[in-house]
Amino acid sequence: MRRDPGALAAALAALDQAALRRVRRIAGGPAASALDFCSNDYLGLARHPAVVSALHAAADRYGVGSGASHLVTGHGPCHAALEEAVAEFTGRERALCFSSGYMANIGVIDALVERHDLLVQDRLNHASLLDAARITGATLQRYPHADADAAAQLLTGSTALNTLIATDGVFSMDGDLAPLPELARHAREHRAWLLVDDAHGLGVLGPTGRGCLELLQLTTEDVPILIGTFGKAFGTCGAFVAGDADLIEYLLQKSRTYIYTTALPPAIAAATQTALAISERESWRRQKVLALVQRFRAHAGQLDLPLAASGTPIQPVILGSAARALAVSRELEAQGFLVSAIRPPTVPAGTARLRVALSANHEETAVDRLVESLAKALDATRATA
Ligand SMILES: *Cc1c(COP(=O)(O)O)cnc(C)c1O
Repeated sequence: MRRDPGALAAALAALDQAALRRVRRIAGGPAASALDFCSNDYLGLARHPAVVSALHAAADRYGVGSGASHLVTGHGPCHAALEEAVAEFTGRERALCFSSGYMANIGVIDALVERHDLLVQDRLNHASLLDAARITGATLQRYPHADADAAAQLLTGSTALNTLIATDGVFSMDGDLAPLPELARHAREHRAWLLVDDAHGLGVLGPTGRGCLELLQLTTEDVPILIGTFGKAFGTCGAFVAGDADLIEYLLQKSRTYIYTTALPPAIAAATQTALAISERESWRRQKVLALVQRFRAHAGQLDLPLAASGTPIQPVILGSAARALAVSRELEAQGFLVSAIRPPTVPAGTARLRVALSANHEETAVDRLVESLAKALDATRATA
């Protein structure tokens, strides 16, 4: 973007023209409204009294800011305890916590991949995984969504000495699962790293909420690098990478987004550890949100709504044009429902959609009413191109 008079204003006007301008809403936070279907607070832990109390108690004891980065003096007992809890939860030797999922993905990939290496990624991966390619300067090759054979062909055709395959576990805008068993097999055969970012599966999927890897019975051998975030099902913020001890020690030494940033506030680490424990103890939360998924899909199916093939709390309703997605979202808001319209460049052009996110905090009746309002809003906006 050049510094020409009017250039920024013209670019903004073009966004308006294409129905792509984004506006922030001043929201009350997760589940401030029973009709909020935008939040990733799948288990309803962001406002859980025990999580809030843990935050208070740790703030009283340790203050607010951590004061420094982890390798200086920012790493306190709450951080150490959280790392142990995450290692235990994921069944891996060690874990390392980052300030956000975005930083975890960038930092882990940048530590393992160099300029002449190859990064193989699903076309629909989260922006933070794709952005890691720019930072490393490595060659990025993307395969068609969820196509493990295409990923294998990229590996076969490569002469790079080091390759890393990265994929979302549950795709954040589609709600479907990556073909992890196949990717794991190809990664092993080609001695490539496999990184799975399970931001949306952890806490929700698998018999005990350990995410995609538990659901698909994959080990640390299959998937050496597991990334998770705390800002979704666990209701706090921050992220982790979990793996074997050597991997984590190497990342601790080399990962720039771990080393050169202030450690998370200790109270956030303490609240997160509590949230992790509650996600295990209150397994009804996981069961409830998955039951709501079935209810939403059954009801929406009866009304012929354009559902995607997702069995997770992320239920996209694909509409095509950005203008239509926006119109339906506004129509729903007029009825009191908050459902985000997801538009390019977050999703590919022509696949704008509503992203319904279900939570254990929702009532069955609210989900039923949402489906009915959705059907009406789709009818009312049929003429919107
Ligand atoms: C949300 C998300 C991230 C980013 O996590 P933050 O902690 O919000 O920075 C990374 N990967 C995926 C798949 C996500 O959905």
